Amino acid sequence: MKYVSTRGMAPVLAFDDVLLVGLARDGGLYVPQTWPRLGEDDIRSLRGLPYAELVTRILLPFVKGSISEADLAAIIGEAYGGFAHPDVAPIKELGAGEWLLELFHGPTLAFKDYSLQVVGRLFDFVLKQRSERVTIIGATSGDTGSAAIEACRDRDAIEIFILHPKGRISEVQRRQMTTVTSANVHNIAIEGTFDDCQELVKAMFNDLPFRERCHLAAVNSINWARIMAQIAYYFWAAAAIGAAGRPIAFAVPTGNFGNIFAGYAASLMGLPVRQLIIGSNRNDILTRFLGSGRMETTQVMPTLSPSMDIQTSSNFERLLFELHDRDGTKVAALMERFGETGAFSIDADRLRSIRALFDGERFDDEQTKQTIKAVCLESGLILDPHSAVGVAAGRAKRRDAGAPMVVLATAHPAKFPKAVKEATGVAPELPPRLADLLERQERYSVMPKDLQEVQTFVLETLREKKAA
Ligand SMILES: *Cc1c(COP(=O)(O)O)cnc(C)c1O
Repeated sequence: MKYVSTRGMAPVLAFDDVLLVGLARDGGLYVPQTWPRLGEDDIRSLRGLPYAELVTRILLPFVKGSISEADLAAIIGEAYGGFAHPDVAPIKELGAGEWLLELFHGPTLAFKDYSLQVVGRLFDFVLKQRSERVTIIGATSGDTGSAAIEACRDRDAIEIFILHPKGRISEVQRRQMTTVTSANVHNIAIEGTFDDCQELVKAMFNDLPFRERCHLAAVNSINWARIMAQIAYYFWAAAAIGAAGRPIAFAVPTGNFGNIFAGYAASLMGLPVRQLIIGSNRNDILTRFLGSGRMETTQVMPTLSPSMDIQTSSNFERLLFELHDRDGTKVAALMERFGETGAFSIDADRLRSIRALFDGERFDDEQTKQTIKAVCLESGLILDPHSAVGVAAGRAKRRDAGAPMVVLATAHPAKFPKAVKEATGVAPELPPRLADLLERQERYSVMPKDLQEVQTFVLETLREKKAA
């Protein structure tokens, strides 16, 4: 499979190059040159496969020419081997035709493990083939950092540095990163906000001599390989509820638009999708867009679902590319306007075609807690605040009671104990393997928001590792 940029001006690349470059050279995002198609029989034949085997089948066409089927199967088998539930992604009935797909049984209890556990191993595999090493640098407001650290720890070809805003993430989130003692993992607490961390990371990527010297790489959700691994569980859900020929609605708590774009990709690959429902918190740029056709950023507001406290949904660019019949020039013009003015609009026809599949609704913190409480009373299932936004949006926007609806549960409730306790009166417990998290030894460095200081730390750490 070859990949093209959404802005049409970057070189066409094979999968292994796309994996390592992340962002395309023209500022666009990579997408497959053509979408592989599955027929009804292909989809029906997925039923009953173990999760890892199903993922291997869905991903194989995307890595063809770069990774063999046997290598891919081994990588994926290992990636999901350590998940805490035998089904990996169990699906539970919430109400009549209403299902919850639990994507929080990985090592860091959020759905990002389902892609990053694969991506970390793909990095290692491709780097070893090329005898190369990389330095991954990222900023986190909570979930991404721990999932990336778990995915990259102890991998020979990778050194990973994660910046988090000191004192501004939850204790569980911090400890999931800082108690990892692997020698290739480096946590830096920055005296500043998440935006300060992100700015430092951007500045390091824009410092080209530094970037080359360290072989910088990124694993944020603009990386195609993460989207690819997420497509699989949409097929998995359809196979599990036996709906091969029947359209299904999906409701997805949404931030950067990566997860729900994977659902859109599944529909382009032949999965009958009735509806894709966007759940937003008070950061509602996407639901406002669905109403008006105008994408316009405002201030980010902190909420109970911090992983969705985002104003610019980077992966939306991939949807724009399909909507504009894959014309990169048009996408580049829209994104340029967005970069300059913080806003762009699409025409009525394109808005209509987005609305044919997408719906969305926003919920504030009070409504989120009410949903956690209501679902707990109805079914005994405890939702985290992100998943609750998904359930609320699905219930508000489901068009067709005859079509099954699957809500993606993106985090374990124990990751957000305070909000869950406020809603239900009971604090959820961490799963057994994390039960001693609050007692484990932490290791991290504290630094001011000073580019020079952070870069010196990175370079010295790399030098020491080389000498050792
Ligand atoms: C990252 C995250 C989201 C948002 O997913 P996107 O792919 O960015 O839309 C939702 N819920 C949780 C728990 C997350 O960690």
